[in-house]
Amino acid sequence: MDTTVKAYLDNYQVSQATRDFLAKTQRMFIGGNWVGASDGAVSEVIEASTGGVLTQIPEGTALDLDRAVAAARHQFDQGEWSQLKPLERERLLHKLADLLEAHAQELAEIESIDMGKSVVQALEVDIQGTIDTFRYFAGWASKIYGRSVEPASLPGSYVTYTRKEPVGVVASIIPWNFPLQTMAWKLGAALAVGCTVVVKPAELTSLSTLRFAELVQQAGIPDGVVNIVTGRGSVVGAAMSSHPGIDKITFTGSTPVGRTVGEAALADMKRMTLELGGKSAVLVFEDADIKAAAEAVAQGIFFNSGQVCDAGSRLYVHASIYEPFLEALTEYVSGLKMAPGLDPDCFISPLVSAKQQDSVLSYIEAGKQEGARLVFGGEAHGGSGYFVPPTLFADCRNDMKIVREEIFGPVLVSQSFSDEDEVVALANDSIYGLAAAIYSNDLTRVHRVIPQLKAGSVYVNGHSTIDPAMPFGGYKQSGFGRDLGPEQLESLLETKSVWITLS
Ligand code: NAD
Repeated sequence: MDTTVKAYLDNYQVSQATRDFLAKTQRMFIGGNWVGASDGAVSEVIEASTGGVLTQIPEGTALDLDRAVAAARHQFDQGEWSQLKPLERERLLHKLADLLEAHAQELAEIESIDMGKSVVQALEVDIQGTIDTFRYFAGWASKIYGRSVEPASLPGSYVTYTRKEPVGVVASIIPWNFPLQTMAWKLGAALAVGCTVVVKPAELTSLSTLRFAELVQQAGIPDGVVNIVTGRGSVVGAAMSSHPGIDKITFTGSTPVGRTVGEAALADMKRMTLELGGKSAVLVFEDADIKAAAEAVAQGIFFNSGQVCDAGSRLYVHASIYEPFLEALTEYVSGLKMAPGLDPDCFISPLVSAKQQDSVLSYIEAGKQEGARLVFGGEAHGGSGYFVPPTLFADCRNDMKIVREEIFGPVLVSQSFSDEDEVVALANDSIYGLAAAIYSNDLTRVHRVIPQLKAGSVYVNGHSTIDPAMPFGGYKQSGFGRDLGPEQLESLLETKSVWITLS
């Protein structure tokens, strides 16, 4: 660990448990064993507020993946997990949730230090969301059943019913913005129905997943049920997408990578769920409460420094309140503190990497070049760390690059509209369809607009209200399939139709 990173941890009095974990040689978790990469390769983990080296993680190989798939396959085909009584799986998942709860502060610190995010937000959102997801799906383990069917037309006499069976070995590829929580979204349902899993965390943020694996072992979940292979997307992720031992891929990440994964997975008809990028529209009508809406809109884009898939990144405000709305936004955002993630008052944290900072700054430059009006932000941060200040562009047009492409940083693009039909057309004019938000107190209008928006989630007078009981996923190029809710369970189950001929 670099001295700059050590000083950062000292300054914010990071717990001894977190320090002990970070001081360890990190290993992957395969078949219940802790192993380095087969060729011994490692990659450095960089801390985002100092740019210093935090630790190293194994850079897994295709051979490591083969071993992880073999362990998951063996556990699924010949092990006890899928055969356990559902209440026993439920008990083990609750035990895992108990351990996550007992180590919540440590996990939040690891997530914050590894990704750069606010430790307070990590605790309240990421870690709490992880615990809640495992608890929610634990309860589903004992509620999976088929149905008894009466044939509708066939003459003769039969007993017919359907069985629900776990799909098999599930591979999960995870992005870096909500590492542990996204992993929970993939694993909670898969483990509840009896699947076994191989997880590839993002190369930038693997640490919380490795700590999680220790808790999986401590909970008594059998070896081979959960396997973690760290490493590059282009190596481990690509090998997963076409691996013959994997039955289902569940991917969360960008649309271009998701397309590559999907194409490879289709070769042997793997089941797949693709949770991809977004450019979510926010519609503010003239009857909205300006102050309350401005605060919610700011939270909806600047939370996690805009590194949120369903961030409300395209803002459309009715012309009659456009300027007062931008003023209210400016005033609220001026009170948000930009600071390292471990600062308890941090709201705007550094971006995850120098590459992400460069990418976001290049979009800001493109906005200036295209003639959008810069309202606030827009300048690179001079000091250490990958900070980008919250940035608002006004008077944008839908043909601008900053309006069409996902920036994945704290940049909000806005324009005014004059009527409902116009704003619905503007909102739907995107390749993405992950989410949308409406700010209005006119119930008739709200219910008229909701069905017209091509988006997987529609938030009204709020943003990113996420819960394990509600499905999450995209329309259009934001992907297909749903995580969370009972809808996700279906995607992890095969349905077998059984026919018994009586006469
Ligand atoms: P990314 O697509 O670059 O990477 C996601 C994961 O895919 C990482 O683990 C990466 O290692 C892996 N990967 C990279 N190349 C691969 C390849 N060729 N084959 C297989 N795997 C490969 O995305 P990111 O930069 O980590 O995350 C940001 C993106 O994720 C944004 O587009 C965001 O909108 C999206 N996202 C979507 C959701 C959702 O629920 N829809 C949630 C979070 C993030």
